[in-house]
Amino acid sequence: MTIIAGNWKMNHDPDSSLAFFEKLKSYGSIPDNVKTVIFPTFLCLSSAQNNLLGVEIGAQNGNPEKSGALTGEVSIFDFPKINVNWLLVGHSERRHVFKEGSEFLKKKVETALSLGIKTVYCVGETIEDKEKGLTGEVLKKQISYLGDFLSDENLTIAYEPVWAIGSGMPAGSKDADEASLLCKDFCKRDIDVLYGGSVNSHNVSNYLNSGLISGFLIGGASLNADSYRALIDAVA
Ligand code: PEP
Repeated sequence: MTIIAGNWKMNHDPDSSLAFFEKLKSYGSIPDNVKTVIFPTFLCLSSAQNNLLGVEIGAQNGNPEKSGALTGEVSIFDFPKINVNWLLVGHSERRHVFKEGSEFLKKKVETALSLGIKTVYCVGETIEDKEKGLTGEVLKKQISYLGDFLSDENLTIAYEPVWAIGSGMPAGSKDADEASLLCKDFCKRDIDVLYGGSVNSHNVSNYLNSGLISGFLIGGASLNADSYRALIDAVA
């Protein structure tokens, strides 16, 4: 089962989100060998839940506290109450734009896993790290920080080199495979590793040959129902 996860970031409103699912529905049912997950904005979570296509819905972010004086935050504890059972943690934009640090990200992972939420933990090196040959070290640091949580079966790793996100410069399949092997090694098990970074329907099949990549986390190409469906068809 290949995972095609779409990270909508701060795109789509409730109307355009509904239009996306209507269009996707017009292509017919989703092949059984593909698991689809969409991470919409908070405002679209509830309506996206009713997509009737079996597309699972996840949150792009959440706060590990149950409640409190945290203006603007949304508690991870509230997601299962609306049947949102996936969460993204550690996306490059959360790490670099919002300066979320390792301890905070670990707390999110801990909370999400304690609630049985399928947690996609994003890791990846910057271009500077890559040029210095530090990819392995960076991945080890980001992954090892999670300690005992690495054994939880609801945890998935997304390898997303920062330089490949939204750049039109995807990592080569050999690099993605090598990173996947490192992630599995650091997790001490055959954990599912997704690849993310400028994936589209034309390049997606390059990553499927080795069996080391279990699926994809997709930004730009997940925003449009045509290109999202093209991705599904390319991997099915
Ligand atoms: C992402 O946002 O996680 C991502 C991989 O974006 P894109 O597919 O646009 O590179």
